[in-house]
Amino acid sequence: MTTLNETHDSTLTSWVTSANDGVTDFPIQNLPFASFRHKGSNESFRGGVAIGDQILDLAAARTSGLFDGLVAEALNAAAQPTLNHFMGMGKTAWSSLRLALSRALRSGSEAEETLKDCLIAQSRAEYSLPCSIGDYTDFYTSVYHATSVGSLFRPDNPLLPNYKWVPIGYHGRASSIGVSGQTFHRPKGQTKAPDAAQPSFGPCKRLDYELEIGIFMGTGNSLGDPVSIDEADDHVFGICLFNDWSARDIQAWEYQPLGPFLSKNFASTISPWLVTMEALAPYRTAFSHPAEDPQPLPYLSSDANSQQGALDIQLECLLQTEQMRIEGQEPTRLSQSSFKHSYWTIGQMVAHHTVNGCNLQPGDLLGSGTQSGPAHEEAGSLLELSAGGKQPFTLPNGETRTFLEDGDAVVMRGHCTKPGAARIGFGEVVGTVLPARR
Ligand code: CA
Repeated sequence: MTTLNETHDSTLTSWVTSANDGVTDFPIQNLPFASFRHKGSNESFRGGVAIGDQILDLAAARTSGLFDGLVAEALNAAAQPTLNHFMGMGKTAWSSLRLALSRALRSGSEAEETLKDCLIAQSRAEYSLPCSIGDYTDFYTSVYHATSVGSLFRPDNPLLPNYKWVPIGYHGRASSIGVSGQTFHRPKGQTKAPDAAQPSFGPCKRLDYELEIGIFMGTGNSLGDPVSIDEADDHVFGICLFNDWSARDIQAWEYQPLGPFLSKNFASTISPWLVTMEALAPYRTAFSHPAEDPQPLPYLSSDANSQQGALDIQLECLLQTEQMRIEGQEPTRLSQSSFKHSYWTIGQMVAHHTVNGCNLQPGDLLGSGTQSGPAHEEAGSLLELSAGGKQPFTLPNGETRTFLEDGDAVVMRGHCTKPGAARIGFGEVVGTVLPARR
C-alpha cells in the first residue's frame, strides 16, 4: 500500500492560488486525472490534472520540455484521450508523475513561468469518460444496504447466508456508463405488481439512484493469475463517484435467479476526476469484521488489510427537482454516508474478483455497491429512504418524493478530511432523468 511522502505534506501550497483556499476539492495534495477539452469545442479530449479551479492540460505540459525519463513517458501516456495506457503503466510511473507535478505546481516552482500557459479553467471545460471501460463489475459491500433492501424484497430472509463470507457482486454493462452531466430517458420494461396476475410493460415507476464509489483498475493481471490480497491495492489506479441508476420495479420482477439485468444497464454515471490511491493514502483506516461475524477466509485477509485496508471517504447525495431548477434553488441534501462502512475493502474486492483466475484490465471499473451507513438517514438509495416507496418524504420546497420524477437531477459529492492532512475531494457527479421515450 502507498506510504505517505512529500506530496501529502499538508503545508504545501501551489502557485495556482485557488488550490490554497482550504475548501477546494483539488488542493496540490490531490492532483486527480480526467479527460477533458474546451466546452463546446471540436478539440480532441486529452488528459488533465485538477489544481484548484483550473486544469493542467497535460497535452500542453508535455511539450514544455520540463520533464524527462519515466516522468515524460508517464506524462505522454496521461495526455492521451483515454488514460488506459497510463493506468496500465503501474504504481512507479503514477507516483513519479505525481511527484513531478506536485513539485512543478508548488509555490515558488520555476515551472510556473512555463506551466501557467497550460492551465484551463474548469468552468470552461467539458469531460469524457477518463478511460475506455472494458468491463464493469458491481459489488454489494454495504451490509446495511444489503440488509434493508433484503428486508424489502425478502422480509423473512433479508441477509442471505453467503453475504458475510463472499464479497457479492455481478457483472454489469460498461456501454451505458456516462460521465457527469449524463441525461437519460426513464427506462421502460416489464414489471409485475405483487397482486397482479401477469406482468405489464411500460415506463419504470420506481426509478432510483445508488450512491457508490467507482474503483478503477490500473495494472491488470494475466488470465489464470490471481492477485493476492497484499498485491491488490497496487493494481488499483483510483476512485471516482458513481451513481448506479436502478429501476426498482423492473428489478423486483427480473432479479431471480440470475440477478439484475435491464433494471441496471440503461445508465450509470461517474464523476470525471479519478482521485488516485496515492492521494487517498492519508485516509486509510483499520478494517475488521465485528467479532461475532465470520472472519474473512485467508485469501481475503492480511495484516496490511486489517491495519489500513479501509478508506474514510465522506459521501453525500443531493436532489434538485425540475421545479427547484426553475426557481433557482440549490440541490437539497438527501443523505450522507461514508465508505468506511463498507463490509469489504477494495483489496478484498480485487483479491476475490481474481481468485479464480479472472483477469482484470487497465480501465476496468468496480462499483462498490450502494454505500448506506447504519442510520436510516445515511441510506444511499430512495428505496431505503422511502421504505420501499411506503413513506414519501417532503423536500424543503414542499414537493414530495418516494422515487425519482422526470426532470430530477441527482448530485453526488465526496471528500476526505482529517486533522493533519489536506482535505481532498472528488468534485461531483450529476445526472438528470428525462421522460420516457414515447
Ligand atoms: Ca449498485
